[in-house]
Amino acid sequence: MSIELNFFSPVQPIKNKLFDAIGINVFIKRDDLIHPIISGNKWRKLKYTLKKAVTQNKTHLVTFGGAYSNHLLATSAAAAQFGFKSTGIVRGEQVENDTIFLCKLHGMKLIFVDREKYRDKQTLFNQYFENNQEAFFVDEGGASPEGAKGCSEIMAELPEIYDHIFSACGTGTTAAGIINGIYNLNLPTLFNGIPVLKNGSFLQTEIELYLNTYHPFKLHTDYHFGGYGKTTPELLAFIKQFVADTGILIDPVYTGKMLFAIYDLAAKNYFKPGTSVLAIHSGGMWGILGMKDKF
Ligand SMILES: *Cc1c(COP(=O)(O)O)cnc(C)c1O
Repeated sequence: MSIELNFFSPVQPIKNKLFDAIGINVFIKRDDLIHPIISGNKWRKLKYTLKKAVTQNKTHLVTFGGAYSNHLLATSAAAAQFGFKSTGIVRGEQVENDTIFLCKLHGMKLIFVDREKYRDKQTLFNQYFENNQEAFFVDEGGASPEGAKGCSEIMAELPEIYDHIFSACGTGTTAAGIINGIYNLNLPTLFNGIPVLKNGSFLQTEIELYLNTYHPFKLHTDYHFGGYGKTTPELLAFIKQFVADTGILIDPVYTGKMLFAIYDLAAKNYFKPGTSVLAIHSGGMWGILGMKDKF
């Protein structure tokens, strides 16, 4: 089975009075359109991971995530599409939600473990799959050198050169891949990461771990809105306005925070007139269904 998806991820302009007034051009790369479930950076990160599993004759993907994890869901659908079995080891007590439902529908077996045990993923893998020759360990969030390699391919798909690229950061794998891509293609582009967790400056070293060669980049650590999965009325109001203005769905966990940052930085004159800015829509829209009551 060859591990390929034929997909469509165009770059589209985002029109806005604020951007016109400052004289900047803002675009968005629609990685959310890659696949309805294996969407955005989750496909980018799985591609070379799945290829590695195939080379090692592994037929069962074992991975990790919270009960709303886009990575768990993407892995379940990719496993189904490419003929793997899949198991998800889920943090916390047993729950039912839309993500869990969709994982099961794609044939993923789920094992719920308490937060203490969840910390040590290798031990958990060994506990359940030590003597299982078919099982292949896929880290939480798809974090891996293979994941970064897949994300670096974004850069070669771009139709023009941008001054700034923005992406939301969880593990930092996507960021590292994009920075490697910028370096490999010798582009003058600055990568701007928006950590979605509190105290996101730890990502500086996490990202550097996956860089092939050190290359400067910038983290804006003040757009976490209280921490992972946390929102504020200001963020939710921004998301409603953005979705209604553009027809592009974004979420409060990742892409909403990243786009809010671009608008806020624009208003604070971070961008010089004439600058071009590209936002990466990293996909993962299903999680929003777990947040309906916040809107
Ligand atoms: C998982 C995810 C991220 C975080 O990607 P990392 O490579 O872990 O930094 C960003 N955006 C979306 C939509 C995601 O689902």
